[in-house]
Amino acid sequence: METARRELEEIKAKAAGAVGAHEASIFEAQLLMLTDPELLGRARKAIETESLTAEEALERSGRELAAVLEDLPDDYLRARAADLKDVVGRVLAALGDRRRVHPLAALERPVVVVSDELLPTDTVLMDRKNVAGLVTEAGTPTSHVAILARTMGVPAVVGARGVAGSVRSGEILIADGTSGTVVAGAGPDEVRRWRSREHARRASEKSLRSQAGLPAVTLDGHRVRLEANIGVPADLEAALAFGAEGVGLFRTEFLFMGRDSLPSEDEQFEVYRDCLTAMAGRPLVVRTLDAGGDKPLPIPGLEAGPNPFLGVRGLRLSLDRQDMFLVQLRALLRAAAAAPPGQTQLRVMFPMVADPGEVDAARRLLALAAEQLDRQGVARSPVAVGVMVEVPAAAVLADLLMEQVDFVSLGTNDLAQYVMAADRTNSRVAHLVDALHPAVLRLVKAVVDAGRRACKPVAVCGDLAGDAEAVPILVGLGVEELSMAPPLLPRVKAAVRALSRARAEELARRALRCRTAAEVRDIVAAEAGPAVRD
Ligand code: PEP
Ligand code: MG
Repeated sequence: METARRELEEIKAKAAGAVGAHEASIFEAQLLMLTDPELLGRARKAIETESLTAEEALERSGRELAAVLEDLPDDYLRARAADLKDVVGRVLAALGDRRRVHPLAALERPVVVVSDELLPTDTVLMDRKNVAGLVTEAGTPTSHVAILARTMGVPAVVGARGVAGSVRSGEILIADGTSGTVVAGAGPDEVRRWRSREHARRASEKSLRSQAGLPAVTLDGHRVRLEANIGVPADLEAALAFGAEGVGLFRTEFLFMGRDSLPSEDEQFEVYRDCLTAMAGRPLVVRTLDAGGDKPLPIPGLEAGPNPFLGVRGLRLSLDRQDMFLVQLRALLRAAAAAPPGQTQLRVMFPMVADPGEVDAARRLLALAAEQLDRQGVARSPVAVGVMVEVPAAAVLADLLMEQVDFVSLGTNDLAQYVMAADRTNSRVAHLVDALHPAVLRLVKAVVDAGRRACKPVAVCGDLAGDAEAVPILVGLGVEELSMAPPLLPRVKAAVRALSRARAEELARRALRCRTAAEVRDIVAAEAGPAVRD
């Protein structure tokens, strides 16, 4: 508002010199509008009661008041609607500028970023090459900031309550993502000790990476597919370098973040087509927009509401904003057709499905998108369709979902949060959202069994898939595809290769009888050999 006021004062002064005081009075009126109690009151109320962003609230408040002015009989007052829109546009532009200069977008040297909370947008806009580590007070290992850090291979410690107030900018900070340790103000001896640990870890990782070309087969010959989770196309390079057999989860919501407008159909088409080409015949599972929850986007209809994780999230938003959904679906169908011959391995996956009715609705829209392209004479190809099972209702109804889809992928991050009624971003309930909890594992088993009966593949793409210690349990439950952050692939592959399926099944049976996640963790920790441990 202050920026807009200064700009208007300047324009007013210029106008007075150039065209006269009368014309300059237009800007005087605009300056008054800038502090109009009705305009600001409505916007403030929308921010406070509906959790709208400042941009959304002001834009709506301006639109409503302009409509009132446009309806008035008096010509002069009607014309003021344009001034009002001008003023609102000026403030929105100022807010946009502020968003463009994100503090983490340009860093001068490598730093450890310490914050109370980092939103996914902050992480996406981050100057990756200069972020040596992330430490946040909020969050759990499956909140999105942790997931992104894992994908980028950046050490991160989340849920470090009190840290932001106890470190000083500029001091040496050690952040160990493996043990979840943060050391502030370390002396030279301590720094030396941690550096040598870091060297050992890198050496172990290097030796694991040298086996990236070996197949992921258990000691008794059972094959497990290992795939990568990606957030932006740039992650593909790491996925392939770490030996991914495909992409099991492309979280497309990151294409929608850190920008002022939604990506167009052509823009999305190009991204999906390029990814598909880079995959050179390996499968690419593209998840449709999964906004909401802890991934808010400034999209109308996506107001946070009192309980964002239980509100309009994932497929619910796409079914609510069909125009937006159709853009994405058309882009995907076009990309499938544009892939080189024999490389049409594009698969579409819907997130946050709660029941078969939602899948019917999504499939109808996919058919409509195809029809629209046909009418326009635009080339398209059919795609395989799958759903994420991450809402307990979907796990319970897995047998019915299997009839509607070509494949299923278990989102154990959300499944754990909903089964345990524990927010995955709240560090105080982090002990409950561990997806190795027997309550979650029993549902995983139910879904895997339903898949086997229906002859449909069931993958796991939640972060449990990249937890090398959890591999015996997942393989023992019958999971045959694991998709994870690319840097985790080598260690998980080593874990698979060190395992016998018979032993895995025995461990899984024991895990299903445990009472808590901690009990399951005890079992897997006792089993973990050197391939799994750091
Ligand atoms: C999950 O919930 O496990 C999942 C893979 O989806 P996301 O983490 O993006 O919510
Ligand atoms: Mg999820």
